[in-house]
Amino acid sequence: MDILLYSGGLDSYIAWWYLGRPKTLYCRLGHKYEEWELDAIRRTIPETVIDDTLVNLGRKWEEEDANIPARNLFLVLVAGLYGASRVWLVVQEGEMEIPDRSEKFFRMATEVCSFLLGREVVVDTPFRHMTKVDMVKWYLEQGLDVGKLLETRSCYSSRGKPCGECGACFRRAMALKLNGLEEEMEVPIEESKIVREYYRKWKEGKYTGKRGQEMRKFFEILRWEV
Ligand SMILES: [Zn+2]
Repeated sequence: MDILLYSGGLDSYIAWWYLGRPKTLYCRLGHKYEEWELDAIRRTIPETVIDDTLVNLGRKWEEEDANIPARNLFLVLVAGLYGASRVWLVVQEGEMEIPDRSEKFFRMATEVCSFLLGREVVVDTPFRHMTKVDMVKWYLEQGLDVGKLLETRSCYSSRGKPCGECGACFRRAMALKLNGLEEEMEVPIEESKIVREYYRKWKEGKYTGKRGQEMRKFFEILRWEV
């Protein structure tokens, strides 16, 4: 059985369609934006299994920037306990250098989950060569419901409306805008401090390859000098 770890976010929602709508699992971590993710799940894939094994993980270990170290290993193990023979965990091109999102992680997690559970459990990711912009493009090409896509939740803040000031909001706004979609955020993305920050880093040449090109297009749309 395949299980997709669903977060209520844009990427894992698109993955659900991409993978032929497998069973979905959400692990409550007690992190600060959990309520809003649960709300997005109820609106998008309400049949998702909501698990509370890890309910203190975020509460205890969430860092200032919303990172929870080694989180993905905990998540895939819980999916394994639910009987998954294949666990889908969504990461995207350009962020696979983070330890628990790396190719090495997928190999090692497959090995450790299979060993511990005494049967084959493959830990895999569907979008190795797609950025968030590519994922949204794929979704739209299938003629799927845009309204539903916008019901997903990516923001790291605990506020109701997406904040427009966190890294997740930036990546989401860019993926939507480059595909001709708009979404209201608390701070409009063109006024957001974090976008200025990304712009500065991009200007300094910190983003190259496909990601750098996407950022160029995004800043062009915002009519910032590129
Ligand atoms: Zn945000």
